[in-house]
Amino acid sequence: MINRLTTLYQLQIIDDQLDELEELRGDLPLTVNELTFKIRDIQSQVNSKLAKKEASLEKRKSNDTEIELLQTNLKKFKAQLYQVRNNKEYDALTKEIDHSEEAVDKLENESLALEDLVEKLKMEIEESEPLMDQLKEELKVKEEELKKIIKSNEREEAKFRDKREKVVTKVKKNDYNTYMRIRKALSGKAVVTVTRSACSGCHNIVPSQRQIEIRQNKRLFTCESCGRLLVSNDIAEEAEKTTF
Ligand SMILES: [Zn+2]
Repeated sequence: MINRLTTLYQLQIIDDQLDELEELRGDLPLTVNELTFKIRDIQSQVNSKLAKKEASLEKRKSNDTEIELLQTNLKKFKAQLYQVRNNKEYDALTKEIDHSEEAVDKLENESLALEDLVEKLKMEIEESEPLMDQLKEELKVKEEELKKIIKSNEREEAKFRDKREKVVTKVKKNDYNTYMRIRKALSGKAVVTVTRSACSGCHNIVPSQRQIEIRQNKRLFTCESCGRLLVSNDIAEEAEKTTF
């Protein structure tokens, strides 16, 4: 039982060290994530604007071709006007001419609107460039900062991770699951000592009968207030002596 309690506390000591190393990174991992997301977001907006611009230019080109065709037809119709033999033919021809002229007008208007749209998109794309450059630069700085911190603690972290792996093999699966569950729920601290008659996790008083039982190191107890695993100071001392 003593071993079971000691290895659990060892696990806590190692995780405390790893947590401390992670804290050194501060907001950097979050900032790097946020910046990466922002850059990706702007890039995808730019991409869709570029696609829209390309499509508008394509449409304009096809409008031009269509207008050319309509103009050729118009010339033909207008020449034919001089050869009409009756009113019916004349009416049909002028109808065709009106119709074609309307179509040309419509296409020309559409092309003008497309031209405006292309200009607007071009401007928006250009306008996003300084922000994009700024965010990329910011990301580069933050990434380098983070890398530096990680690099400077690399060896220490590897040592703790290594140690952790070894200790974990000695912890019972059920204990480990309980440990991890409490650790996750209570921001890191899953195994704590009873100090000055109180749980050192939540500082609530542990009943004296329970304190005696904990000191006997015969069972795994949990704090009635916070649910953390409680060990005696002897266990903690033993674990601290043997962990590193
Ligand atoms: Zn507690």
